[in-house]
Amino acid sequence: MLNPVATAKHMGLTGPPPPTSQYSENIMVTRLPCIGRIHFVKDKGGMMSLGFVVLYWIYGTWCSLTVILLPHWRDGQTSDFMIFLFCLCSIMCISSLIRVSTLNPGRVPLISEESSFGIDYSHWELCPKCNRKRPPRAHHCRRCQQCVLRMDHHCPWINNCVGEENHWAFMQLLFWAFCLGSMAFLACQLHFWYYPPCVTCNKDTFYIKHSIWFNYLLTVLAVFMMLFQAGGLLGQYFNISMDINGESRTCALRIGNTYLQSFDNKYMPKEEGRYHQ
Ligand SMILES: [Zn+2]
Ligand SMILES: [Zn+2]
Repeated sequence: MLNPVATAKHMGLTGPPPPTSQYSENIMVTRLPCIGRIHFVKDKGGMMSLGFVVLYWIYGTWCSLTVILLPHWRDGQTSDFMIFLFCLCSIMCISSLIRVSTLNPGRVPLISEESSFGIDYSHWELCPKCNRKRPPRAHHCRRCQQCVLRMDHHCPWINNCVGEENHWAFMQLLFWAFCLGSMAFLACQLHFWYYPPCVTCNKDTFYIKHSIWFNYLLTVLAVFMMLFQAGGLLGQYFNISMDINGESRTCALRIGNTYLQSFDNKYMPKEEGRYHQ
């Protein structure tokens, strides 16, 4: 005997309503003067994580420059080049973060008979979560509430998905964050082992007086950042060189296939995958 709920579902009588807009309700898209269109995910947890990352950057940049490098630069113990290199890494790091967190990661466009522009979407599947047709290797993100082309993962630290259109920007962020962590670690080591106590600085200033504690904290943060980003870069390099992405791998592993089977583009778990239920 037929299950009435299953039958209704099969006939499309239940489930999400058909999409009417290109954008999910969780995404804010706005156009800013001089910058252009920005995309922002309205997710409280993600916004808090992104805020934490910005604070991390502020502390790392402030402490490295104000507590270590600039006092020794004034004493003639640090070169202009070192200051320039540190500022370059810091600026590139924060601008990469802003860019990757506000880029569209690869939203699947709303395709209809009228707006298909000659695209053959006969092999596209229907996403049961947002009721929108999507090509193979697109996945639905619960946080963004939209399907993303070649979605790698949703990164709460950038409060955005990593997908086809911002994957390169994400790699750049990992690279610059690794460079900044390495520069901060180097500055700490120079301060601990090489530089003599600063001469021209005001030794009564709070952060100069207690510089050792500021530098201990900076060392821990810098080491953690270096290891985290190095791991991320290696993982991303491996994924890209094998032409896979994080979500495809997760789907393959979940249904008991070997990791390597997900390299095959033809293999796409249609029914059992995490985002295909
Ligand atoms: Zn979807
Ligand atoms: Zn997402």
